[in-house]
Amino acid sequence: MKYVGAHVSASGGVENAPVNANLIGAKAFALFTKNQRQWFSNPLSKASIRAFRENCEKYDYKPFQILPHDSYLINLGHPEKEPLEKSRASFLDEMQRCEQLGLDRLNFHPGSHLKTISEEECLRRIAESINITLDKTNNVTAVIENTAGQGTNMGHKFEQIRFIIDMVEDKSRIGICIDTCHAYTAGYNIKSPEGYVDTFNIFDKIIGFKYLRGMHINDSKKELATRVDRHDNIGKGFLGEDVFRMLMNDVRFDDIPLILETPEESLWEEEIRNLYSLIN
Ligand SMILES: [Zn+2]
Ligand SMILES: [Zn+2]
Repeated sequence: MKYVGAHVSASGGVENAPVNANLIGAKAFALFTKNQRQWFSNPLSKASIRAFRENCEKYDYKPFQILPHDSYLINLGHPEKEPLEKSRASFLDEMQRCEQLGLDRLNFHPGSHLKTISEEECLRRIAESINITLDKTNNVTAVIENTAGQGTNMGHKFEQIRFIIDMVEDKSRIGICIDTCHAYTAGYNIKSPEGYVDTFNIFDKIIGFKYLRGMHINDSKKELATRVDRHDNIGKGFLGEDVFRMLMNDVRFDDIPLILETPEESLWEEEIRNLYSLIN
């Protein structure tokens, strides 16, 4: 079964995210468990945690339908000691928030080398950051997102993500989230039927579908291999609707959160409905 939703607002408290998701007919949702532009926020209150769990139950969202996203400030592959340690502390806090909320996965962008260290050294640091964090937490899977490869961001090639996974000690708590916009602008031509087949065959060979814990389903404002990260609403960008039709009819994407991060929020309800209508 397909679980389509969107990255909804948690403003006013995490407990509002399931409410907002339900309002747009979402069967899955993503959220920030704290202000995504800050390194640290106040701890979640007991009341907020309880209300979140109650609302998830009320609107029937199980942990496998929820894909929390970490702060954009975190760089787990940072070349310098102090910002690396700050990133690791902030990431641990994010993982612990997920634990408190009873969630089983946390989506994050792998990290950037900032032209100061080699790509390989950056990937090693990212893997070490993940190992340190998994050691201090339970039950939450670290879900690496593929990137568009903008600037010095790592994770735009499946091989780079495989390199990280290979170095993670607890393979039961490492996963991947594929963002369709990022994949396309990173150079994977999922737009054509042949490119779609090839890309996911390559993905399966290099990483493996068993690690797939979620998808970000976004169209792209930028062309193939531009390595620029600009999402568009479904069918409005360079990807077009066909790739999403293939995806909605592909059982390999069953039973994971399929999350819209498209720019025009007022379209989410319609986008979700349209995506379901693409199922044959
Ligand atoms: Zn994304
Ligand atoms: Zn993006």
